[in-house]
Amino acid sequence: MEKRLAFLLVVLLLAAPLYAGDGYWQQFVHYKMEVKLDPATHTLTGTSSILYRNNSPNTLDKIYMYLYPNGFRNNETILAKEAAKFFVKSLPRDEAAGWIDINQFRWLSENADATPVSAFKVDDSILEAALPKPLKPGEEIRFELTFTSKVRKFQGRAGYRGTQYDFAQWYPKLCVYDEEGWHNVPLHYLGEFYGEFGTFDMTIDVPFEYIVGATGVVTDGDPGWSSVEVDTSLNDSDWQKKYSEMKKALAEQAKSTPRRRVSFHAEDVHDFAWITSPDFVYEKGSYDGIPIHVLFRDHAKQKWSKVVTERGRRSLEWLSTKFGRYPYPQLTITHGLLGGGMEYPMLVMNASESEGLILHEVGHIYFFGIFGNNEQKEAWLDEGFTSFQTRWYMETRYGKMGYDVATAKKNANWLQRHRPELTSNESNRGFAQYYMNSGFNEPITRYAYKYSDGLGYGVNAYTKGSIFFEMLRYVVGEETFEKICKEYFNRWALKHVNEDRFRQVCEDVSSTDLGWFFKQWLHDTTTVDYSLGKISKQMAANGHWQIIVEVNRNDRGVMPVDVELAQSNGEKLVSRWDGMAEKGEVVFTTRQEPRRITLDPHDQIMDKNRIGHGTMRVEFFPDYPRMDYEPPDAYVVTLRPSGWYNDVDGARFGLRARGTYRGLRNLQLGTWFGSRSSELDGYFQFNNRLGFLGTRTTYTLSASKVEGRIMGETLLSFNWSRSLTAQVQSNMQIGFNYGKLDESDYGFRKFDIDGGTLSLKDWSDGTVSSAFINYSVTSRGMNWRSAINWSARYAGEFLGGDSTFTKVDGSVRLWWPSPKLGLYVRGYAGSFIGDEKQITLQDAFSAFGATSREQFQSSYLRSVGSFPAEAHYHLPGGGNLRGYFDQPAPLRKIFAMNVELRRDQQLPLLGKLLRPVLGNSTISAFFDAGRATDLTETTNNLADAGVGITFKSQVPDKWYSFFLGTDYTIRLDFPIWVSDPIVKADGKVDDEMKFRYVLSFQNSF
Ligand SMILES: [Zn+2]
Repeated sequence: MEKRLAFLLVVLLLAAPLYAGDGYWQQFVHYKMEVKLDPATHTLTGTSSILYRNNSPNTLDKIYMYLYPNGFRNNETILAKEAAKFFVKSLPRDEAAGWIDINQFRWLSENADATPVSAFKVDDSILEAALPKPLKPGEEIRFELTFTSKVRKFQGRAGYRGTQYDFAQWYPKLCVYDEEGWHNVPLHYLGEFYGEFGTFDMTIDVPFEYIVGATGVVTDGDPGWSSVEVDTSLNDSDWQKKYSEMKKALAEQAKSTPRRRVSFHAEDVHDFAWITSPDFVYEKGSYDGIPIHVLFRDHAKQKWSKVVTERGRRSLEWLSTKFGRYPYPQLTITHGLLGGGMEYPMLVMNASESEGLILHEVGHIYFFGIFGNNEQKEAWLDEGFTSFQTRWYMETRYGKMGYDVATAKKNANWLQRHRPELTSNESNRGFAQYYMNSGFNEPITRYAYKYSDGLGYGVNAYTKGSIFFEMLRYVVGEETFEKICKEYFNRWALKHVNEDRFRQVCEDVSSTDLGWFFKQWLHDTTTVDYSLGKISKQMAANGHWQIIVEVNRNDRGVMPVDVELAQSNGEKLVSRWDGMAEKGEVVFTTRQEPRRITLDPHDQIMDKNRIGHGTMRVEFFPDYPRMDYEPPDAYVVTLRPSGWYNDVDGARFGLRARGTYRGLRNLQLGTWFGSRSSELDGYFQFNNRLGFLGTRTTYTLSASKVEGRIMGETLLSFNWSRSLTAQVQSNMQIGFNYGKLDESDYGFRKFDIDGGTLSLKDWSDGTVSSAFINYSVTSRGMNWRSAINWSARYAGEFLGGDSTFTKVDGSVRLWWPSPKLGLYVRGYAGSFIGDEKQITLQDAFSAFGATSREQFQSSYLRSVGSFPAEAHYHLPGGGNLRGYFDQPAPLRKIFAMNVELRRDQQLPLLGKLLRPVLGNSTISAFFDAGRATDLTETTNNLADAGVGITFKSQVPDKWYSFFLGTDYTIRLDFPIWVSDPIVKADGKVDDEMKFRYVLSFQNSF
């Protein structure tokens, strides 16, 4: 009793100066662990003795532990089920699984009577154990557990691949108990971690040839670094030779010393990670006396050698200067197995040597490591902060572009050098704006696994999260912000942080109430939109100018907004309005003549629409392939020459222009000239969001005179999906179309029939005025996809319409894709209702494929002679009966079904030659069947069958992608058998079995 009281006093005395003032407390845990790896069975066995001290003011009656490896036990875990919702199979194969089994759990006590073995409960990845007796405030408890873990094949940040093992979230780890209680949250698919600060004494036992890197400093044994430390700046063969000699020596030594045992000690960390492989090369650097250990796989030498130690040093220097001195005795940067990078205290696992990645992951040793936030609940506090500080560093080092432009340009080809690029800040903000205005915006603060998709989690934690800190810097000012960073470190390093604690620091340092700012940007989905109003300028009698600038707030969100006045002498004045009211005024008085007024000149306030800021310009570019350039202050217009051929116009030459402001206010213009017809054609389309119907509704207006047809269309598009990447996506369009065949020469199409080319009319004379509705819903599961389309068109005698008909059609597609053997099924039905004499040729169904109205959308299929008839071009649609390219009867009604089996198959011999040009190939076997009723009410049952091959090619990012596009598909189908072959001119029926072919640039369906 006395002893306990004395202990309590010591604890309280120790705790008092550390956590004084705000009643803050955190639990303490000390792990002593011995683990042994058996690579032959991918098994890790271990014993962990744990001391847990209750620093909370509450009495605890149980404890919880994370057993994260259990999230990968099978496909029934919480993680696996959530992954499945996003169509990710967390365990592609059973043998990839991994888990951790607790063999024994004992409370350790000085009192020998205490129960030696204890009951515990494991549910998914959480262990729960009732304490033998209540643990009062200030008391501590010791327990020991032994465990066996089957290491999984690399998946979700950890596991093995080849001979390398990445150990992350791998051991029985105390759940955090804080002022909110226990955080016994199992492993989810989205989101990261939360850990209890403490001390780790770890002894790791691996085969002798394995080199080890870990959280902590080596206290006993040899991690093997010096035995694989080579000077990789020597020429390649020299260091390789040295390295293989060293590895030979290791193997030799392993004969007498089969195992390597190395101990690491770490304090003030809330996690412990380690990595081991026999193929690591070691390099050492340092920052201000702090060693930096780098372990990378030998093949990566070219990229990692020397630069990683230097980038690590710069990271520590930057973080130590901006926030506070790196508090740990070492930094280890390792070559991890995962795709990006992942952070642990004192150790990061990175896929590459990228400078930004190193800054980001080492930055995480601060934001989550030193500032131990709950990453599940407030991911912005670690991902947002570190993404922000990475960009801050990169902009400080490389200027406005935010990346190493010189090196990037040096390695770029002609196209990449000429294509305009956004600064990294602009692309970050552009992406955030796109998401925030998509109609699917979610707030920055939300439990990771509660986001509707991975996109929502990612864009909020990283993209919007990092902009939050930039805007905070803008609101409080640069100098104050830097003070905030330092004070945050002073107050909260090596403790648990959260929004309130960070906000308190910001408010204390800036002496400003920032409640509105944190609420608006972290908890709401409000957007911000300001614009300049009336500007009046007057020259007073004394020669001074007075300029009054009105600013309007057009949205609910508020931000202080800068107004900049550029004067005739080039000087700029800036004045800030608090932005709270609906209208505000900024007044400038100056001797100089005012030249230009701009609002939020440096794009600081996340204004969703910078039109009306006095900053807008128009930029013109060639239509570069893969151009991703939507700057905040420019309407971007791309131009490309355009042309094709048809029999009426001859060669067509023209120009096509597309304009956009960040994916909105999209304008398309085109003009062509026919060399034979001397016809001048033109085309116009405008598309934008329809404000009052919400951000997911757009309208499109278009008008054209193209290849003998005059058209006008208005269209409304609705998106009813639940999120941008939801399993079910549904869209509807309603519209009105006016169309007139102005020049009937164009209304034909050529067909290759019975060995000759026949020109047949495929577009009716006169005017069709119609209203239409299209509805589509696509949905996907882990192994299947489906799509349903339905549409109706009503043509009437309004606006000069000559035809009256009602047409309905729809299709259902289902497919089970698989590279080995995929099954694709399509059903289609379409019919005209009413008087068939009114049916227009362009709307009539086709057994073979798409209608003429649909073909009109493709410039190369539009008019007579535009594509060689002998190619038997197949535009998918209608009955999709591929064998009937030579029987083009317009249909009044059709039912059809298409079945296709596909297998990814590289062709032997020929394939090797063609692959660089044609890409990967898929072979298929198909069967099409349908029942077609033509305009004379004759009904035929039709079927065909055959095989096909499809090539899909990704065009490299080089100049010729101007002509080829970014990717293309070439499909050749051979409908060898048709049930009803054509009746030839001589009255004989063609063969059922015959070599036939069709060509297409699209999949069959
Ligand atoms: Zn991160």
